[in-house]
Amino acid sequence: MAAVAPDRSAAGVLSFGLRPRTILCLGAHADDIEIGCGGTILALLAAQRSVRCEWVVFSGGGGPREREARRSAGLFLKGARRRGITVHAFRDGFFPYVGGEIKEAFEELARHLSPDLIFTHTRDDRHQDHRVVSDLTWNTFRNHLILEYEIPKYDGDLGVPNLFVPVRPAVARRKVQHLRAAFASQRSKRWFTAETFQGLLRLRGVESGAPEGLAEAFYARKSVLTF
Ligand SMILES: [Zn+2]
Repeated sequence: MAAVAPDRSAAGVLSFGLRPRTILCLGAHADDIEIGCGGTILALLAAQRSVRCEWVVFSGGGGPREREARRSAGLFLKGARRRGITVHAFRDGFFPYVGGEIKEAFEELARHLSPDLIFTHTRDDRHQDHRVVSDLTWNTFRNHLILEYEIPKYDGDLGVPNLFVPVRPAVARRKVQHLRAAFASQRSKRWFTAETFQGLLRLRGVESGAPEGLAEAFYARKSVLTF
Protein backbone atom coordinates (compact mmCIF):
# COMPACT_ATOMS: atom_id res chain seq x y z
CA MET A 1 0.00 0.00 0.00
CA ALA A 2 1.48 3.33 -1.03
CA ALA A 3 1.58 6.91 0.30
CA VAL A 4 -0.01 7.67 3.59
CA ALA A 5 -0.21 11.43 3.78
CA PRO A 6 -1.41 13.54 6.71
CA ASP A 7 -4.14 15.99 5.78
CA ARG A 8 -5.41 18.71 8.09
CA SER A 9 -8.04 19.97 5.70
CA ALA A 10 -10.89 17.86 7.01
CA ALA A 11 -12.55 20.07 9.63
CA GLY A 12 -9.26 20.45 11.49
CA VAL A 13 -9.12 16.74 12.27
CA LEU A 14 -5.85 15.02 11.49
CA SER A 15 -6.66 12.54 8.77
CA PHE A 16 -4.68 10.14 6.65
CA GLY A 17 -5.00 8.97 3.08
CA LEU A 18 -4.42 5.39 1.98
CA ARG A 19 -3.72 4.19 -1.54
CA PRO A 20 -4.62 0.51 -1.58
CA ARG A 21 -4.03 -1.33 -4.85
CA THR A 22 -6.03 -4.41 -3.97
CA ILE A 23 -9.09 -4.42 -1.76
CA LEU A 24 -11.21 -7.29 -0.52
CA CYS A 25 -14.85 -6.78 0.44
CA LEU A 26 -16.54 -9.50 2.50
CA GLY A 27 -20.24 -9.77 3.32
CA ALA A 28 -22.43 -12.52 4.77
CA HIS A 29 -25.46 -11.57 2.68
CA ALA A 30 -26.18 -9.76 -0.55
CA ASP A 31 -26.39 -6.02 0.34
CA ASP A 32 -24.20 -6.13 3.50
CA ILE A 33 -21.08 -4.77 1.82
CA GLU A 34 -23.05 -2.01 0.08
CA ILE A 35 -24.85 -0.92 3.27
CA GLY A 36 -21.67 -1.05 5.36
CA CYS A 37 -19.13 0.53 3.05
CA GLY A 38 -20.76 1.30 -0.32
CA GLY A 39 -20.03 5.02 -0.10
CA THR A 40 -16.40 4.36 0.82
CA ILE A 41 -15.97 1.99 -2.14
CA LEU A 42 -17.49 4.53 -4.54
CA ALA A 43 -15.29 7.33 -3.15
CA LEU A 44 -12.15 5.18 -3.18
CA LEU A 45 -12.64 4.02 -6.77
CA ALA A 46 -13.43 7.56 -7.93
CA ALA A 47 -10.24 8.89 -6.33
CA GLN A 48 -7.88 6.12 -7.43
CA ARG A 49 -7.44 4.34 -10.70
CA SER A 50 -5.91 0.90 -10.98
CA VAL A 51 -7.60 -0.60 -7.94
CA ARG A 52 -8.35 -4.29 -8.03
CA CYS A 53 -11.39 -5.27 -6.03
CA GLU A 54 -12.45 -8.74 -4.95
CA TRP A 55 -16.05 -8.91 -3.72
CA VAL A 56 -17.23 -11.99 -1.83
CA VAL A 57 -20.79 -12.64 -0.62
CA PHE A 58 -21.21 -15.83 1.42
CA SER A 59 -24.90 -16.59 0.88
CA GLY A 60 -27.55 -16.38 -1.82
CA GLY A 61 -25.61 -18.27 -4.49
CA GLY A 62 -27.74 -19.95 -7.13
CA GLY A 63 -30.88 -17.95 -6.37
CA PRO A 64 -32.44 -14.56 -7.06
CA ARG A 65 -30.28 -12.93 -4.42
CA GLU A 66 -27.18 -13.88 -6.41
CA ARG A 67 -28.52 -11.94 -9.37
CA GLU A 68 -29.13 -8.97 -7.10
CA ALA A 69 -25.68 -9.26 -5.52
CA ARG A 70 -23.96 -9.38 -8.90
CA ARG A 71 -25.95 -6.49 -10.30
CA SER A 72 -25.19 -4.38 -7.23
CA ALA A 73 -21.48 -5.24 -7.20
CA GLY A 74 -21.36 -4.24 -10.87
CA LEU A 75 -22.82 -0.83 -10.01
CA PHE A 76 -20.49 -0.20 -7.06
CA LEU A 77 -17.35 -1.49 -8.80
CA LYS A 78 -17.67 0.36 -12.09
CA GLY A 79 -14.49 2.32 -11.34
CA ALA A 80 -12.34 -0.73 -10.54
CA ARG A 81 -9.49 -1.68 -12.85
CA ARG A 82 -10.17 -5.32 -12.24
CA ARG A 83 -12.94 -6.94 -10.28
CA GLY A 84 -13.84 -10.41 -9.11
CA ILE A 85 -17.28 -11.22 -7.75
CA THR A 86 -17.98 -14.45 -5.87
CA VAL A 87 -21.36 -15.43 -4.42
CA HIS A 88 -21.30 -18.52 -2.21
CA ALA A 89 -24.39 -20.51 -1.26
CA PHE A 90 -23.98 -20.97 2.50
CA ARG A 91 -27.36 -21.08 4.22
CA ASP A 92 -28.61 -17.73 5.46
CA GLY A 93 -28.87 -17.71 9.27
CA PHE A 94 -26.89 -20.93 9.77
CA PHE A 95 -23.27 -19.79 9.40
CA PRO A 96 -22.17 -20.85 12.92
CA TYR A 97 -23.22 -24.41 12.09
CA VAL A 98 -21.24 -24.65 8.84
CA GLY A 99 -18.21 -22.72 10.05
CA GLY A 100 -15.75 -25.36 8.81
CA GLU A 101 -16.93 -25.07 5.22
CA ILE A 102 -16.90 -21.29 5.36
CA LYS A 103 -13.38 -21.43 6.80
CA GLU A 104 -12.34 -23.50 3.76
CA ALA A 105 -13.69 -20.75 1.50
CA PHE A 106 -11.61 -18.20 3.42
CA GLU A 107 -8.47 -20.34 3.15
CA GLU A 108 -8.99 -20.67 -0.60
CA LEU A 109 -9.33 -16.91 -0.86
CA ALA A 110 -6.12 -16.31 1.10
CA ARG A 111 -4.20 -18.72 -1.14
CA HIS A 112 -4.73 -16.42 -4.11
CA LEU A 113 -5.00 -12.98 -2.60
CA SER A 114 -3.09 -10.72 -0.23
CA PRO A 115 -5.17 -7.52 -0.19
CA ASP A 116 -3.90 -4.14 1.00
CA LEU A 117 -7.23 -3.40 2.62
CA ILE A 118 -10.11 -5.63 3.76
CA PHE A 119 -13.66 -4.59 4.57
CA THR A 120 -15.63 -7.00 6.74
CA HIS A 121 -18.40 -7.17 9.36
CA THR A 122 -17.71 -5.87 12.82
CA ARG A 123 -16.87 -8.31 15.62
CA ASP A 124 -19.71 -7.30 17.94
CA ASP A 125 -22.45 -7.48 15.31
CA ARG A 126 -25.50 -9.25 16.77
CA HIS A 127 -26.24 -11.21 13.58
CA GLN A 128 -24.64 -14.63 13.87
CA ASP A 129 -23.71 -14.85 10.18
CA HIS A 130 -22.03 -11.44 10.34
CA ARG A 131 -19.99 -12.48 13.39
CA VAL A 132 -18.76 -15.66 11.70
CA VAL A 133 -17.53 -13.69 8.70
CA SER A 134 -15.83 -11.15 10.97
CA ASP A 135 -14.10 -13.81 13.07
CA LEU A 136 -12.90 -15.76 10.04
CA THR A 137 -11.56 -12.59 8.44
CA TRP A 138 -9.26 -12.02 11.42
CA ASN A 139 -8.54 -15.71 11.69
CA THR A 140 -7.42 -15.94 8.05
CA PHE A 141 -5.77 -12.60 7.29
CA ARG A 142 -3.10 -12.09 9.94
CA ASN A 143 -1.00 -9.31 8.46
CA HIS A 144 -3.53 -7.09 6.74
CA LEU A 145 -5.36 -3.84 7.38
CA ILE A 146 -8.95 -4.80 8.25
CA LEU A 147 -11.73 -2.25 8.59
CA GLU A 148 -14.97 -3.50 10.10
CA TYR A 149 -18.17 -1.91 8.83
CA GLU A 150 -21.51 -1.55 10.60
CA ILE A 151 -25.04 -2.60 9.61
CA PRO A 152 -28.07 -0.86 11.19
CA LYS A 153 -30.65 -3.41 12.28
CA TYR A 154 -33.55 -4.36 14.58
CA ASP A 155 -31.16 -5.84 17.15
CA GLY A 156 -29.72 -2.42 17.93
CA ASP A 157 -26.03 -3.17 18.03
CA LEU A 158 -24.43 0.03 16.79
CA GLY A 159 -21.37 1.01 18.80
CA VAL A 160 -18.69 3.65 18.87
CA PRO A 161 -16.59 3.32 15.71
CA ASN A 162 -13.11 4.81 15.59
CA LEU A 163 -12.42 5.43 11.90
CA PHE A 164 -14.50 7.56 9.56
CA VAL A 165 -14.59 8.13 5.81
CA PRO A 166 -16.31 11.39 4.78
CA VAL A 167 -18.76 10.83 1.93
CA ARG A 168 -19.88 13.57 -0.44
CA PRO A 169 -23.65 14.08 -0.73
CA ALA A 170 -23.63 13.00 -4.40
CA VAL A 171 -21.84 9.78 -3.47
CA ALA A 172 -24.26 9.14 -0.60
CA ARG A 173 -27.18 9.59 -3.01
CA ARG A 174 -25.57 7.18 -5.47
CA LYS A 175 -25.08 4.61 -2.70
CA VAL A 176 -28.77 4.75 -1.80
CA GLN A 177 -29.89 4.72 -5.45
CA HIS A 178 -27.76 1.66 -6.20
CA LEU A 179 -29.13 -0.15 -3.12
CA ARG A 180 -32.72 0.60 -4.07
CA ALA A 181 -32.13 -0.30 -7.72
CA ALA A 182 -30.28 -3.56 -7.18
CA PHE A 183 -32.15 -5.11 -4.25
CA ALA A 184 -35.78 -5.25 -5.31
CA SER A 185 -36.39 -8.14 -2.90
CA GLN A 186 -35.54 -5.92 0.09
CA ARG A 187 -37.61 -2.86 -0.82
CA SER A 188 -40.63 -4.09 1.12
CA LYS A 189 -38.65 -4.36 4.37
CA ARG A 190 -39.48 -1.59 6.83
CA TRP A 191 -35.89 -0.73 7.53
CA PHE A 192 -34.60 -0.80 3.94
CA THR A 193 -35.21 2.88 3.26
CA ALA A 194 -33.22 5.88 2.11
CA GLU A 195 -33.83 7.46 5.55
CA THR A 196 -32.13 4.58 7.36
CA PHE A 197 -29.02 4.81 5.21
CA GLN A 198 -28.93 8.61 5.12
CA GLY A 199 -29.60 8.84 8.86
CA LEU A 200 -26.58 6.75 9.78
CA LEU A 201 -24.39 8.60 7.27
CA ARG A 202 -25.47 11.88 8.86
CA LEU A 203 -24.84 10.70 12.43
CA ARG A 204 -21.36 9.45 11.59
CA GLY A 205 -20.76 12.68 9.68
CA VAL A 206 -21.52 14.65 12.86
CA GLU A 207 -19.20 12.46 14.93
CA SER A 208 -16.30 12.86 12.52
CA GLY A 209 -16.75 16.51 11.63
CA ALA A 210 -17.13 15.52 7.98
CA PRO A 211 -16.82 18.61 5.76
CA GLU A 212 -20.19 17.99 4.09
CA GLY A 213 -21.84 16.35 7.08
CA LEU A 214 -21.85 12.70 5.93
CA ALA A 215 -19.54 9.78 6.65
CA GLU A 216 -19.32 6.02 6.87
CA ALA A 217 -17.78 4.59 10.00
CA PHE A 218 -15.54 1.63 10.74
CA TYR A 219 -13.72 -0.15 13.52
CA ALA A 220 -9.98 -0.17 12.88
CA ARG A 221 -9.34 -2.73 15.58
CA LYS A 222 -5.64 -3.13 14.91
CA SER A 223 -3.22 -0.97 12.98
CA VAL A 224 0.55 -0.44 13.06
CA LEU A 225 2.16 2.95 12.60
CA THR A 226 5.65 3.21 11.10
CA PHE A 227 7.83 6.27 10.42
ZN1 LIG B 1 -26.39 -9.38 6.55
